[in-house]
Amino acid sequence: MKNYIQLKSLNTFSIDVCAKHVVTVHNECALLKFWKKADNKGQPVLILGDGSNILFLENYIGTILLNRIKGIFITENKMTWRIHVGAGEKWHELVTYTINKNIPGLENLAYIPGYVGAAPIQNIGAYGVELSQICEYVDVIDLYNEKKIRFFHAECNFQYRDSIFRNCLKKYAIVSVGLKLNKKWKPVLDYHELIHLNKNRVTPRQVFNFINIIRRKKLPDPMSVGNAGSFFKNPVVDINIARCLFQIYPNMPYYSQKDGKIKLLAGWLIERCHLKGCVFGEAAIYSKQSLVLINRRKIATGTEIAALALFIYNQVADKFNVYLQPEVRLIGNYGEISPKKLFI
Ligand SMILES: Cc1cc2nc3c(=O)[nH]c(=O)nc-3n(C[C@H](O)[C@H](O)[C@H](O)COP(=O)(O)OP(=O)(O)OC[C@H]3O[C@@H](n4cnc5c(N)ncnc54)[C@H](O)[C@@H]3O)c2cc1C
Repeated sequence: MKNYIQLKSLNTFSIDVCAKHVVTVHNECALLKFWKKADNKGQPVLILGDGSNILFLENYIGTILLNRIKGIFITENKMTWRIHVGAGEKWHELVTYTINKNIPGLENLAYIPGYVGAAPIQNIGAYGVELSQICEYVDVIDLYNEKKIRFFHAECNFQYRDSIFRNCLKKYAIVSVGLKLNKKWKPVLDYHELIHLNKNRVTPRQVFNFINIIRRKKLPDPMSVGNAGSFFKNPVVDINIARCLFQIYPNMPYYSQKDGKIKLLAGWLIERCHLKGCVFGEAAIYSKQSLVLINRRKIATGTEIAALALFIYNQVADKFNVYLQPEVRLIGNYGEISPKKLFI
C-alpha cells in the first residue's frame, strides 16, 4: 500500500503486511504524545515489542508504537534483589545481564524472545518457572486519563499464560516491570529435560546454558523460519473430562493444577491427530514440535497460518472434544481480533 510501512521485520512470523505509521518511543512522554496524536485522528494504535506473540492477518490501518523505554535499576538487601526494568528492554538480554552479575533466578526463562513489557501480559513461562513467581509489580500508563498506575502482584491476576493485562491492552501501556529475586537460590529442575542436572552442584549459568541447548533443539529460530513459539496454549480441563479421556487414552500426559483442574499437552493432542509435520501451502507444523506453526520460507500470509491453526483446532476438537485456545494474538486491520471469531 502506498506510503505504508512494511512490518515483515517487526513480527517473528515474518508476515509481509504494512501499517500506516510506525513510531519508536523511548520515553513515557513520547508514548503518550504519539498515542494521543493517533487517537485524535480516530486511528487505532498497537503497542508492540518484538512481534513474537502475534499473527498479522492483514494490513494494519493504524499506528504501531514500538516501546523501547530502557533502564535496568537494581537494589538489594540481605534477602533479595529488586530489579526495576523498562518495558523496552529485551527480555533475554535482561536474563543475560543478571546472570553476568551473579544474580540468579531468571535462568529458566532464558532465550524467550520479546521485550520486558510484554512478559506480564501472557505471564511468560518456560521449564517450570513463570514470570508471576518473580514479578513484584507492573507499571502502566492509563492512556485515557494519562495516569500512571502500579499493579502489585496480587492485582495482576496472573494465571497460566494469562493476566489482567491480556484483555485491557487498548487502555494500558506497560512501561516498566518490577522483579524480586531471592538471594537464597534453589535451582528449578522439575521439568523432565532438566532432571539430569545435579541439583546440589549445578550453577545458574549451567542451567542458563542447558536451556539454550534444549531450546535450540526444539524451537525454530525466527531468523530463518517464521514462527511465534507455541501457537496454542495447553488446554486446562475439568477433572471429569480428563477422567473420560484417560479411560480411552491411558498414556495421555497431564499435569494436575492447584485448583483441581487438569492441564493436557496440546502438542501431544496434535500429534495424536497425526498432524506432526503437516504442510498447508507455505504454512506448516514444525516437525520437531507440534505446538509450533511455521512460515516455512517466509512467504506465507497470516491467513494461511490461521487456516492451518483452524484445521488443527477442528481435528483436535473432533478427536478429543477438547477445544484449543491460541496463545498467539491475532491482529487484523483495526487491531486485535477475538480468537472466537476464527475458532468457532
Ligand atoms: C521462538 C519463540 C519461542 C518462544 N518461547 C516462549 C516461551 O518459552 N514462553 C513464553 O511464554 N512465550 C514464548 N514465546 C512467545 C513470546 O516470545 C512471548 O509471549 C513474549 O513475551 C512476547 O514479547 P513481544 O515483545 O514480542 O510481544 P509482542 O508480540 O510484540 O506483543 C504481544 C502483545 O502484547 C502487546 N504489547 C507488547 N508490549 C506492550 C506494552 N509495553 N504495553 C502494552 N501492550 C504491549 C501487543 O500489542 C500484543 O498484543 C516464544 C516466541 C518465539 C518466537
